[in-house]
Amino acid sequence: MTTSKHLQNENQTNTTELLDNILNSSTEYGIIATDLNDKIVFWNAGAEIIYGYTKDEMVDKQTPQILHVTNPHSNDILLHNDTNYNSRITDYEMKAIRKDGTILPVSVTVTPRFASPGIICGFLIIVKDITNLKVEEKYRDILIEVAHLVNSPISINEMCNGIISAISTILEIPVVFICLLDKRNNNFYVEHQIGLNSEYKKHHCSYTYDDKFVYGNVFDCFLTYSQFTINYGKLTGHAICEFIQDVDLPESDSSIIHIPLLADIALMGILHIVIPSSRKNLLLTETQVLSIIANEISAGIQRKRLEEEIKQYAYDLERLVQERTDQLRVKDAQLVQSGKLATLGEMATGIAHEINQPLGGISLIVQGLQRAKNFGKLNDDILDEKLKSVIEQIDRINKIITHLRTFARQPKEAHQEISVSVPLLDVFKLIGQQLKNKNITIETFISEEIPTVLADHNKLEQVFLNILSNARDALDDFEKKVRRYREASNPPEWVKSWQKKIVISSYEKDKYVYVEIEDTGGGIKKEHINKIFEPFFTTKEVGKGTGLGLSISYGIIKEFGGTISVESEEMLGSRFTIRLPSHDTSPNPVLGRYEH
Ligand code: ADP
Repeated sequence: MTTSKHLQNENQTNTTELLDNILNSSTEYGIIATDLNDKIVFWNAGAEIIYGYTKDEMVDKQTPQILHVTNPHSNDILLHNDTNYNSRITDYEMKAIRKDGTILPVSVTVTPRFASPGIICGFLIIVKDITNLKVEEKYRDILIEVAHLVNSPISINEMCNGIISAISTILEIPVVFICLLDKRNNNFYVEHQIGLNSEYKKHHCSYTYDDKFVYGNVFDCFLTYSQFTINYGKLTGHAICEFIQDVDLPESDSSIIHIPLLADIALMGILHIVIPSSRKNLLLTETQVLSIIANEISAGIQRKRLEEEIKQYAYDLERLVQERTDQLRVKDAQLVQSGKLATLGEMATGIAHEINQPLGGISLIVQGLQRAKNFGKLNDDILDEKLKSVIEQIDRINKIITHLRTFARQPKEAHQEISVSVPLLDVFKLIGQQLKNKNITIETFISEEIPTVLADHNKLEQVFLNILSNARDALDDFEKKVRRYREASNPPEWVKSWQKKIVISSYEKDKYVYVEIEDTGGGIKKEHINKIFEPFFTTKEVGKGTGLGLSISYGIIKEFGGTISVESEEMLGSRFTIRLPSHDTSPNPVLGRYEH
């Protein structure tokens, strides 16, 4: 029994010693124990490394010998004897002030020590150097910030300024600047900077080595342009020195780091960093991060330049399309106008007829008046009546001329709400007499309930005029053929009943307004039907046809969102159908009817 108790005691002593050894020699964690009077009772190797004080310097001393940079939210824990700590474990992130005055980020865990259950005899403080953790955090922060800036829809300027400001604040670097290559003169210019004075624009480096002899002091910059270079202590004499804002930055004891910004293998710029030499060890570990940042900057600049180029290209293209469209619109208007003039030319004879009629009337009236005067039968009543008739005839001529003037005028661009019946009937003011003279029967079936369309009166009139003129020509041509058939010994049955006829109908169906113009002419040959809307296609003899009428009509109807189509059968005739989107659905009273 005594032996086993002895053995038990020995085992316990061994275990306590082992534990003491482990705690004492742990270098990963600083382990400190205090009593209730803040006196240090335990100080291990880890604590020695972190705070720089040896065990002998600290054990039996009061904790005020070691300090932390006080943070506003908690007092220094090693000066603290608060019962708040009694029952729980508390974690802190603090900055320890080492014996040599340097500062170290640490995580601190404080737990109460118990002499027996419920009786606190002091505190156990476990401290860990978290410098690496902090550095990693810093790297993570800056890489996230850089990735964010590179991928944001901002300009190259905003991106570069954002990145150098992040490098400066997160990595605590006093001077950061980016030089970009200006391809026009092969020089690098400082484009973005932090920590340089207002004169910095004067600084530039050339891409070529030759400049070394001219500007000896900038040699380092381009000698090392294509590789990551740290020039320890070489800031003195570097051309950038005269542009550094902080005059206190030790020139002789500062390093300048050049990190190339590469586009494939070509150098597009250099990221420069100036730091005091005291930071150089830390910066060595940062080189990798700086290289990643430089790569991101290069990729960002390239991508954004490409985006800007594409944007510019799209803008130029849009402008070009707009210019071309405007040119085409002018050309189109010119074409419409020349087509119209051609039509007017073709119509000249017809118009002569239109005007001749009232002129003939006037001549007859005047002759009648002369005769009455000669016979002494002219009195005031007869004179009044005859003069009224003359005025009526003159009015008629006036109307024709006025209409011709409106027709020949360039139309306004705006689309108006109109009824197709108006231009349809107006056409007959120009061509009605001609059709009558040519013995062409006109039949109109214009719906009484037809909605309006969005179009231009003059342009629609031109379309109807083109189609009607073509129908007139087709009927004239076919008439000659029919005459030959009739003169033959055994004419076919249809020839006897053939009539020169144009049927015009308008109606509304499924929210579209339709105008059909059908003739009993010779029709269109199958091999021509697909070509008739092409500009300059004509089967008419020189001087009679321009081949513009239908192509212009096609353009006009398309402009109003409509379609124009043709059905034709040789020897039977043709039907042109114009379809325009209805503008409103309210019925429009029929505006007139053409008869002759
Ligand atoms: P143009 O009348 O000056 O020849 P268009 O473009 O108006 O020019 O017409 C092109 C061609 O379409 C005409 O030359 C003719 O061959 C054919 N065409 C048009 N309308 C008819 C029609 N109603 N009947 C037969 N052929 C037609």
